[in-house]
Amino acid sequence: MQMQSPAPRLDVDVTREDIPCNLCGSWDHAPFCPENGRGLVQCRGCGLVYLSPRPPDAELYALYGETYFKSGDSRTVGYTDYARDEPNIRKTAQRRLKHLERYVKPGRMLDVGCSMGFFMAEAAARGWQVQGLDVSAFAVERTRARFGFDARHGSFLELDYPAGAYDLVTIWDVIEHVPDPAAHVQKAAELLRAGGVLVLATPNVDSLPARFTGKNWVGYKLSEEHVYYFSRRTLARMLEKAGFEMLNSRHVGKYVTLDLFFDRFGIYAPVLGKVGQFLGQTLGFGKLSLYINPFDIVCVTARKV
Ligand SMILES: [Zn+2]
Repeated sequence: MQMQSPAPRLDVDVTREDIPCNLCGSWDHAPFCPENGRGLVQCRGCGLVYLSPRPPDAELYALYGETYFKSGDSRTVGYTDYARDEPNIRKTAQRRLKHLERYVKPGRMLDVGCSMGFFMAEAAARGWQVQGLDVSAFAVERTRARFGFDARHGSFLELDYPAGAYDLVTIWDVIEHVPDPAAHVQKAAELLRAGGVLVLATPNVDSLPARFTGKNWVGYKLSEEHVYYFSRRTLARMLEKAGFEMLNSRHVGKYVTLDLFFDRFGIYAPVLGKVGQFLGQTLGFGKLSLYINPFDIVCVTARKV
């Protein structure tokens, strides 16, 4: 779910329902960072941050489907950017694969939220047998046509895969979008063999950048569709509940062009961001890429016990 198409807003024309904590089941919550205007709450039992009330599950998924279709059909910024960013996405994938291969050797892998298949392509080149799925029909079609991979369209919870068959399940930038992240992690546990590895990444609402920037945190601003915000603590609890043992938890970055870097930087410092973008375009260094770690995206590696 990395495409940044103009997202449909969750706060218009939809009925909303109050929901219990996805992690501990409690209904007891308090407003969280109300000044950001997102309608977030924090569970008083376990500390999970989430959107409540929120649109019903079916509408959440419908919104994504529509967004993705549109981004595929209508030459929107989202699709154009994502496709053009392929070299950086693949470099980021290589770096992440090198790290996770410390814990599991290439074997059978499922990429949940595979988008256009760039991560799968890098994994396949390193000897992984890859399968993937995505809620975007467009992205899945494109993955099949270009790479010939086994990519399926649908929600992870609704598609059938063999239990105990996988060495690795990856879930990049997905769990913050879905109605039931705990069920995603539970399903990953079912599909993994004993000793198999799950890797997932998501924004860390408890990170120093999130704390220091408050309502202006880029994690709130960039994604209208985020319905869950995890911390290392809530992630660890969710994984342990599903039968995982934590192997590694760290903040990860990605390769970005300098142009995109200055654009994001401009969220915090608009003038400096604009100056950077202007110089990058004028002097021609805007298309250079570098690895940027904002230390607010947490990546956990966990083993099925
Ligand atoms: Zn809770």
